Amino acid sequence: LEKETDMGFGYSGKILRINLTDRSTQIEEPEEVFYRKYLGGEGFVAHTLLKEVGPGVDPLGPENVLIFAAGMLTGAPVGGSGRQSVGARSPLTGGFGESEAGGFWGAELKQAGFDAIIILGASEKPVYLWINRGSVEIRDASGLVGKTTAKVQQLIREELGDKRIRVAQVGPAGERLVRYACVIFDVNRAAGRTGMGAVMGSKNLKAIAVRGVQRVALAHAEIVRESAKWLSENLEGLVGRRKAYGTAGCLLPQQYTNSLPTYNFQAGEFAGAEKISGERMAETILVDRDNCYACPIYCKRVVEVDDEIKVDRAYGGPEFETIGAFGSMCGVSDLKAISKANELCNAYGLDTISTGVTISFAMECFEKGILTLADTGGIELRFGNAAASLEMIQQINDRTGLGKLLGEGSYRAAQVIGKGSEEFVMHVKGQEIPQQEPRAHHGLGLGYAVSPTGADHVHNIYDQSYTDADLPKMKSVAALGILEPLPYNTLNPAKVRLFRFEVNWMHMVNCIGLCIFLPYDYDRVRDILHGITGWNVTIWELMHVGERVLNLARMFNARQGLGIDKDILPRRFSDPLKSKTVPLEGIAQQELQQGVETYYAMMGWDPVTGAPLRSKLQELDIEWAA
Ligand code: SF4
Repeated sequence: LEKETDMGFGYSGKILRINLTDRSTQIEEPEEVFYRKYLGGEGFVAHTLLKEVGPGVDPLGPENVLIFAAGMLTGAPVGGSGRQSVGARSPLTGGFGESEAGGFWGAELKQAGFDAIIILGASEKPVYLWINRGSVEIRDASGLVGKTTAKVQQLIREELGDKRIRVAQVGPAGERLVRYACVIFDVNRAAGRTGMGAVMGSKNLKAIAVRGVQRVALAHAEIVRESAKWLSENLEGLVGRRKAYGTAGCLLPQQYTNSLPTYNFQAGEFAGAEKISGERMAETILVDRDNCYACPIYCKRVVEVDDEIKVDRAYGGPEFETIGAFGSMCGVSDLKAISKANELCNAYGLDTISTGVTISFAMECFEKGILTLADTGGIELRFGNAAASLEMIQQINDRTGLGKLLGEGSYRAAQVIGKGSEEFVMHVKGQEIPQQEPRAHHGLGLGYAVSPTGADHVHNIYDQSYTDADLPKMKSVAALGILEPLPYNTLNPAKVRLFRFEVNWMHMVNCIGLCIFLPYDYDRVRDILHGITGWNVTIWELMHVGERVLNLARMFNARQGLGIDKDILPRRFSDPLKSKTVPLEGIAQQELQQGVETYYAMMGWDPVTGAPLRSKLQELDIEWAA
């Protein structure tokens, strides 16, 4: 591939800035050093938010800034390179808001000539953006308001006369400012976490349509080709199970290890687990598999149901996180009903994790008599009632009945409901907890507590992957000097050290737009990035990019008043998880506290405020952030 004159290798060199209040647009062309320091994705988000969103800015007001950013790999012919980030101040946590999604939109954005879009202000009327081969247009979206995501994508493609247009959008839930509304890409991929859809909705921005033809230029195409060849030759052995069963393939392994979140994290085993597994989905309602840009794994599910419940295949199929949130967490063992919940969330633009976990919380309130039939409008909101959970999704989207309160998120709902419900609301910093059980992964629990976005399972570790020297992850982290396996249930300094290195790396992965399911080790990621950009990057340099970006996010939170008191876990995780075969201890509050303190010290963060020390910012070449 030839490099075009004004492009870098791997990036287009242009960032589009749009002010929706005065409808002005501007193109920025940062220097190469900026790209190398921040790479893209979460890096651009963190840099922009810290520079441009001051303390106290209303997350749902026009002063908030919304960023869409492709990663450095996004759009290159590399498996797993189809991801992009969305960021803003979060209406759910009040802090650093950032979420990623796969699909094809980010690659198309780069092909349209831009690495990122920064959106300022708010439009008076509903609009959508049309970014077409380097040009941008702000168009009327009044005809799209209130419509589901598949309908909106269809209408935009018809209006612009091109079926290959890629669309990012908010559904009706984002228009109505549900605090955990997400941004939906390609109808069935969600930047789900931290409420970025509510921010987009608050700006009266319904969608961003993109189309481009400019290929990403590669510095050393032969290196990139070699990686693609290696992946296709090793696909079955390394990721065959993910290909066959999708992310839902991890449901039964979690069930067998007592770590499948059940009944609002009151249990780790669910009697209906077999019925909602990835294996059962493959045998019953699975009609196709789907992929993201350039990815040969095809882990995305496509399901279809046509009986008393109808599920539209346009919305894909449920991921593991969705099955956990609407299945075991809500006590529902009906895969068709869970698939319907997935369809509704994708059609309305709701984060499936926050929606399912919030409904699970409300179910526990109902079971305990804290919520009554009078509160639910006559709905028996009990664990196992699939119809009730579907009705709640509808109410959350419509902002009616109990759904109006639940649309504020479980943390805020518990503040209103009271009566002791605050004790079992499962959140960190206001964001609902994903379907990974900290009692089976103590390092993951530390990760939930200290994440700048609130509970997050992507920039985190899974302790069980480091418990045996023969596990692939152990081979990969040898490049970081982690040479000995560690038990899953410790937060000793060796575990914190592993956690620190891996989480820094994962933030870097969010900057390059790489899917975490690709079986690349550290050396291969380095080689791919070198092949794309031509930079002689090292693992050491990449680790520092991740740490730099994490520190910017941490500084953003410090400025917004999120301090050390928010780096905690819900008390429930200190309770043991009973099981006849694999009982798990809780994470003791003191153990977590010790882990947090050790982590701060290793990171160079102030033990009293939790904010990065000036010397740490100097080390990371971001002293401007001090
Ligand atoms: S592994 Fe799955 S989620 Fe990741 S890029 Fe490939 S198809 Fe997309």
